[in-house]
Amino acid sequence: MMNEFDIIVIGSGLGGLETAVMLSKEGFNVCVVEKNRQVGGCLQSYVRHGYKLDTGMHYIGSLGSGQVLHQCFSYFGIMDRLRLKKLDEEAFDRIHYAGGVYDYAMGEEAFIETLSRQFPAESGNLRRYVARLSEVGHSISVDNFKKGYVSNPGALSYFGMSASGVIDSLIADERLRNVLAANSVLYGGVYDKSTFYEHAMISYSYMEGAYRCIDGSMHIATSLVDEIRKNGGTVRCDSEVERIMVDGDRVTGVQLRGGERIGAKHVISNMHPQLTLELLDKNKVIKKAFHTRIRSLENSYGLFTMYLLMKPGACPYVNRNEYIHERESVWYVRHDGPIDCCLISMQPMSDDERFANVISVITPMYIDELSEWSDTLPERRGEAYKAFKERKIAELLALMKRHGFDWSDKVEYIYSNSPLSYRDYTGTIDGSAYGILKDYHSPMTCLLSPRTKLQNLYFTGQNINVHGALGVTLTSVITCAEFLGMDYLAKKIGNY
Ligand SMILES: Cc1cc2nc3c(=O)[nH]c(=O)nc-3n(C[C@H](O)[C@H](O)[C@H](O)COP(=O)(O)OP(=O)(O)OC[C@H]3O[C@@H](n4cnc5c(N)ncnc54)[C@H](O)[C@@H]3O)c2cc1C
Repeated sequence: MMNEFDIIVIGSGLGGLETAVMLSKEGFNVCVVEKNRQVGGCLQSYVRHGYKLDTGMHYIGSLGSGQVLHQCFSYFGIMDRLRLKKLDEEAFDRIHYAGGVYDYAMGEEAFIETLSRQFPAESGNLRRYVARLSEVGHSISVDNFKKGYVSNPGALSYFGMSASGVIDSLIADERLRNVLAANSVLYGGVYDKSTFYEHAMISYSYMEGAYRCIDGSMHIATSLVDEIRKNGGTVRCDSEVERIMVDGDRVTGVQLRGGERIGAKHVISNMHPQLTLELLDKNKVIKKAFHTRIRSLENSYGLFTMYLLMKPGACPYVNRNEYIHERESVWYVRHDGPIDCCLISMQPMSDDERFANVISVITPMYIDELSEWSDTLPERRGEAYKAFKERKIAELLALMKRHGFDWSDKVEYIYSNSPLSYRDYTGTIDGSAYGILKDYHSPMTCLLSPRTKLQNLYFTGQNINVHGALGVTLTSVITCAEFLGMDYLAKKIGNY
């Protein structure tokens, strides 16, 4: 089989597309193969009843001028084309907790001052907390890129620290501890597992610049595809990889569903590593112990997403996110009771920015809750599944109503997704929202190298390092550095 391409990228999620954009820009002949009919993975927007719904990108941090994601997106060639709305600076997130309402403001000083008004005795502690976030935030900076690296080597130590542990050690007030951890759904937060790195990286990136995509996040994916094609690359949809071919200690290409084979000098997988390993031809290079290690890693919980499709012009657009928590501890734990926490986010639309036409509401859900339907396929899960989703929708609506969010007379349709939908559409193990869970007890086990023992097979995407728009982008740079050298690539992005 001929090497048709220098590099095949399996999967067109943010990680796959960014990797392909950088490598095609640097002269590699790249082909992205995506199993779904459209590109984007979690960036996809899709239409129901004429409304555009986002799969999974409610807001994105570090997108202000001079900030890391802005710099990377500029280098990729897409920044100018993105349609973004900066969230309210005085309150980009609002936390509803234990009868109180608390705002996260943008900017370090504003964040401290805003919360200090309600927790005056904690003002000094808040300053120390923000200083810790800032240490992690600044470990990933455009200045570091200019020096030839993505993040300070010292930043790794924050993966070995507990998010809840650091918050609890810095903050004396129990209520404020919970207010600060209230966004932990953004990283599948678990009280005694989540790393301070993820908490700080994500919280800081929003604190410095939080944005929503106008008209959905899909245009990030399509802009990346345009760039790949402009650079001479190929992007193919409806092209599910069902086999990765191996010869000795090298991969030789992929076989698609239907039998077509595509040869390449290198293969980069944007799929979950467990799925990647399952598709590899039998070989002696990747040892059983590695398979066992990957299979034994826990994945983050999934999310149940409810979309409220609003009557035109009925619901004023609110430019911030609302987090509701009814339990004493905001850290999610499995329980049998009704839903008691959620994140509410409105999608801005260019047609009329005064009104929201879609409101997304997410809440954690482990796939075990759906075990009855684990062998079913989308749209064919049966009546009991529909009833389950109806029940969850009713619980979410009741929770929101208890906190003053009652839009019942303004909703035209309600649509929902469960972790099973994510499992079947984006191929994430157990319907996990963010892939491999990063556990501070064993950070080096959960963080994977983009390299594999097969000389020319690599990983990219959220499972390798950190998830989310920023985490996946940094991972893409780390993967591409395997081809281009970190010093060269980081400086090129930093000085762009
Ligand atoms: C509900 C939800 C809300 C979120 N909200 C935010 C947010 O507000 N902000 C933020 O920054 N992040 C958010 N995230 C996280 C963010 O969306 C992800 O971390 C990121 O998009 C993952 O990108 P990825 O490229 O690693 O993976 P994916 O987007 O999962 O891409 C993997 C791709 O591989 C393809 N694939 C799988 N198997 C095959 C195969 N055999 N052959 C070919 N292709 C295959 C899939 O179809 C998919 O396109 C959210 C996630 C979810 C689920």
